Amino acid sequence: MAIQFHCPQCGNHIEVDDQWALRDVACPFCRKTVNAPEQSTFPPDRDTPAAAPILIDAAIGPGAAPARGGTNVVAIVALVLSCLWLVTGMASPMLIRPAVVDALGQNPTPREMQDFIQDQLERQPPASWLIAGMVSFLASAVFWIAGLVCAIIGVGNRTRRRFALAAFAVLALGPIFVCAGLATGI
Ligand SMILES: [Zn+2]
Repeated sequence: MAIQFHCPQCGNHIEVDDQWALRDVACPFCRKTVNAPEQSTFPPDRDTPAAAPILIDAAIGPGAAPARGGTNVVAIVALVLSCLWLVTGMASPMLIRPAVVDALGQNPTPREMQDFIQDQLERQPPASWLIAGMVSFLASAVFWIAGLVCAIIGVGNRTRRRFALAAFAVLALGPIFVCAGLATGI
């Protein structure tokens, strides 16, 4: 359980782990040193920024909690990887599109497109297709797996959890949208 209270210096709503009860902590808003109360002074609120405890109290021993707050690096990495995954995932249909438009015109039906791609692959697929397809497939697979792992780790970290959740949503829901997009013919 965390202790939530108003900073007596600036009045902002802050939160510390309960082992910081009655100890001095640094307010994350005004950076002043304040004494944490023994118990929360109002009902829990999940969106409260954590006050970063600082080593002022002489009673703090080696077992003291590390400072909370700051940046959730893993969550940010997950978000970046999810964006890279989207870009590489979109790259392969984009690369094939000019050849499809050349052969079938601007608005081929999904059926025509599928037949055309199948036909091309059965004959002699252009080398650029194979290379581009392979590179974008491998890159998107690597970004997807790495991004998902980072998102899961990032969600476990209490700070900036929203970044990790956003990455997780993109990576988990993305394949569904990609399949729907392919089914309707991008
Ligand atoms: Zn303050």
